[in-house]
Amino acid sequence: MRKLIERLHREKTLSSDEFRILLDECDDDSLELINSIARSETLKVFGNRIFVRGLIEVGNCCHNDCLYCGIRRSNRNVERYRLNKETILQCCDEGYRLGFRTFVLQGGEDNYMTDERISDIVSSIRREYPDAAITLSLGEKSYEAYKMFYEAGANRYLLRHETHNPYHYSLLHPETMSLQNRLQCLANLKEIGYQTGTGIMVGSPGQTTDNIIEDILFIGEFKPQMIGIGPFIPHRDTPFADKSAGSIRTTLLLLSIFRLMHPHALIPSTTALASLAPDGRERGILAGANVVMPNLSPPQERSKYSLYNNKASMGAEAAEGLAFLEQKLSAIGYTIDYGRGDYAE
Ligand code: SF4
Repeated sequence: MRKLIERLHREKTLSSDEFRILLDECDDDSLELINSIARSETLKVFGNRIFVRGLIEVGNCCHNDCLYCGIRRSNRNVERYRLNKETILQCCDEGYRLGFRTFVLQGGEDNYMTDERISDIVSSIRREYPDAAITLSLGEKSYEAYKMFYEAGANRYLLRHETHNPYHYSLLHPETMSLQNRLQCLANLKEIGYQTGTGIMVGSPGQTTDNIIEDILFIGEFKPQMIGIGPFIPHRDTPFADKSAGSIRTTLLLLSIFRLMHPHALIPSTTALASLAPDGRERGILAGANVVMPNLSPPQERSKYSLYNNKASMGAEAAEGLAFLEQKLSAIGYTIDYGRGDYAE
């Protein structure tokens, strides 16, 4: 196992069979080893600085019906909300005052939020905060829409592919959605010039080791600038309510695998990881992650953006809790970096 891990570090990839051994046979000692090598790699490239991104959940209305998602269209128990432009700008204002230089606008695929409305919001943020990076996470759009947002001032786009296997994709999504379109969107984003992020949920229903290997190989080829890996957590109002959450161990292993394969990537220690374990955020960083995304959304709306149950949005996960986050990071030897933290090779 040590030899495999060292070779992954050296050569930045392995064969499918070798990845299978790593995923299936990684014991505690091997996990500790790969986490520590990945951590050293992150320290070598980024130092002990963790980038913070201010997350603004712009709305929980969505016309899609992904089976794992708490704000899916069929869930009648969600109190829907949508932030208007003024509120989004107020969130940015608060974030900028706190020191954030990246704003992440995340939301469902909302028919009301037309391409023009989104562009208008992006260009207003760009005008007010010329030195801040704008990241969008608003789902699948046309090539023209992505281009319009980019020209309005957006720099980065997050769109997890969730699984690279068509059959597995069909278990997680309604028939109206296709893996092919998701992958086309990712290719379009890259072509337009976005710093592009993709990723998967670990332990989503029906996921096999082979699926994870396909994801590793796809991400290895696609070379995204950002890689989002978090455990699946069930939501009570979805068809997956009685499924088990994904494994923290496998999430930590994958974070390290991706760090070794992509030393320069921006890899968040996700809220899902922090929601599943009290020290999840820190363990993610110690496995090679280098980004955290505290929540800048208006506090009264946070509980409505419930993608899965028991999602952390307060304390160190909240923008108001930066001092607390600083303390937690400092306890493991890290410090907050408020810079834009663009991808650079
Ligand atoms: S995962 Fe995204 S696209 Fe799918 S239902 Fe949830 S918010 Fe909508």
